[in-house]
Amino acid sequence: MRAVFFFIFRVETADQRMNQTIAALATPTGRSGIGVIRMSGGDISAIMERIAPKAWPSKPRYAKLAEISDPETGELIDTAIITSFRAPNSFTGEDVVELSCHGSPVVLRRILDLVFRLGARPAAAGEFTLRALSNNKMDLSEAEAVRDLIDAGTTAAARQAIRQMRGEFSHRLTPIKDELLDVIVVLESALEFVEDDLPVAAAEEIKSRLAACEKDLGKLAATFDSGRLIRDGIRVALAGRPNVGKSSLFNALLGDERAIVTEIAGTTRDEIRERFVIGDVPIYLTDTAGLRDTGDAIERIGVERSRRAIADSDLCLFVIDAVEKISNADREVFFEIKDIPHLIVINKIDKSHASAAEIRGLEEFADTATAIRVSALTGEGLDDLKSAIIGHFRPIESNTEGFLVTDARHYDLLNRAAAEIDAAIESLEAGMSEEIVLVGLHNALGYLGSITGETSTEEMLSRIFSTFCIGK
Ligand code: GDP
Repeated sequence: MRAVFFFIFRVETADQRMNQTIAALATPTGRSGIGVIRMSGGDISAIMERIAPKAWPSKPRYAKLAEISDPETGELIDTAIITSFRAPNSFTGEDVVELSCHGSPVVLRRILDLVFRLGARPAAAGEFTLRALSNNKMDLSEAEAVRDLIDAGTTAAARQAIRQMRGEFSHRLTPIKDELLDVIVVLESALEFVEDDLPVAAAEEIKSRLAACEKDLGKLAATFDSGRLIRDGIRVALAGRPNVGKSSLFNALLGDERAIVTEIAGTTRDEIRERFVIGDVPIYLTDTAGLRDTGDAIERIGVERSRRAIADSDLCLFVIDAVEKISNADREVFFEIKDIPHLIVINKIDKSHASAAEIRGLEEFADTATAIRVSALTGEGLDDLKSAIIGHFRPIESNTEGFLVTDARHYDLLNRAAAEIDAAIESLEAGMSEEIVLVGLHNALGYLGSITGETSTEEMLSRIFSTFCIGK
C-alpha cells in the first residue's frame, strides 16, 4: 500500500498540481459573521453544479444567493452568497468562486469537506497567489507585498506593502534593468564586431553608465534600514541589576501593568515580551530578569534566557538607579551588554535631582551626556526615551520618494547585483576582456530578475510562498 502511495505521489507532476481545483477558508478560523471559502482552477463548475445546482451557473462578478447542499443526501448545509469570476479575469487568473457562508466553524468545515470529496484539494499556503504569479497576474515582488499587507502590524507597514503591491518596486527596477541590458548589448556587439579592444571613450561611457546603475541600486538598498524597522520592528531589551526599575519602566513604556513590580529583588524570573508602537515603528520590548548570580534554580534559568534576549536585541536599555551610586552589580550587567548597541537610562529621577554627571561611577560607562533621565513612576522623561529609541535607528535620507525596501530577500539581491556591477566596473578598469565583464552583468541582471520573479527557481518560490497564510 505504501509503495502505491509513493508511486501516486511521484507521478503527480507540478503541472498536474497546478491544474487541480484548490479550496481553502479565506477568513480566519473561529466563529464570525461570515466565513469565506475560496476555490480556484480546475473544474470548479463540476463541483458547483453538484453543491449548488439551483444557483449554478452564476453570472460572473454578480452576487447570488445559493443553497449549498450535499448532493448525496440532499441535506441543506447552508445558504451562502456566491461570487464567481471567469478566467482570466480573477485574482488567480483561473476560474474562481467565493462562497460567503455563515461563519460557523462547523458549517465551513462541512462545506470544505464536501468540495474536497468532490475533487478539490486543500490549497497550500499562498497557493492562490502563486497561481496569480504563474498566470502573470502579478510579479513576485507584488505577490510578496500581498503577504506583507496581510501581515502588516502598523499603518506605515501597510502603506509600504500597498505601494509594492501596486508594482512600485518593479517600476523602480525596470529602468536599471533596461540600462544594464543596453550596456550588455553594446559589450556583446563589441565582442562580435570589433577585433581590437573596446575604444577608450566607449569603455569610459560604459563605466559611467554602470556606476549610475550601481548608485541607483545603492539608494534603494539604503532604504532597507528604515524599511526593515517598519516591517519587522525593533527588538529592545531592558537590562540592569535587580530593583533599578526595569519592570516599572516596562509597564510605563507599554502604558500597562504587565510586569509584576515589587521591591523584592529577583521578582522578574522570566523574560516578558510585549509589542507596542512608537510613531510607526513596532517595538518588541523584553523585560529581563536581573542579571545576577543566584542560587535559585528557576531564577537561574530566567537569567540565562535574559542573556539570550539581550544578545538578540537590536537595542538594549541599560537601566541604573538615580539615587544610588554605581555598584559592582551594575558593572557586571554593563560588562554583559557593552558590546550591544545600548542606551543608558537613569531611572527614579523623581527621587533624585542628580544630573547624570553627578551619579558617582557613571562616567565609567559612558559619555554621561547621552544618558537619558526618566521616572517610571511619574512618567517624566518617557517621551525622550521613546525618541531616543527611534532616534537610534534614524532613517537614512533617500531619494526614493518614501518608497522603502522592507524585505531582507530583496535587500540581499540588490546588494548582490550592486556588487556584481562594481566588480564589472573594476574589470573594465583593469582592461579585462568583455567576456568577463559580461558574466558579471548577466549575474547582476539575474539577481534583479529574482526580485520580480523572472529568474526564480521553483525551490525559491516554494520557500517564499510557504511564508504565506493558507487561503491567500
Ligand atoms: P526591577 O527589579 O529592575 O524590575 O525593578 P522594579 O520595577 O520591580 O522596581 C523596584 C522598586 O523600585 C519598586 O518598589 C518600584 O516601585 C520602584 N521604582 C521603580 N521605578 C521607580 C521610579 O521611577 N521612581 C520611584 N520612586 N520608584 C521606582
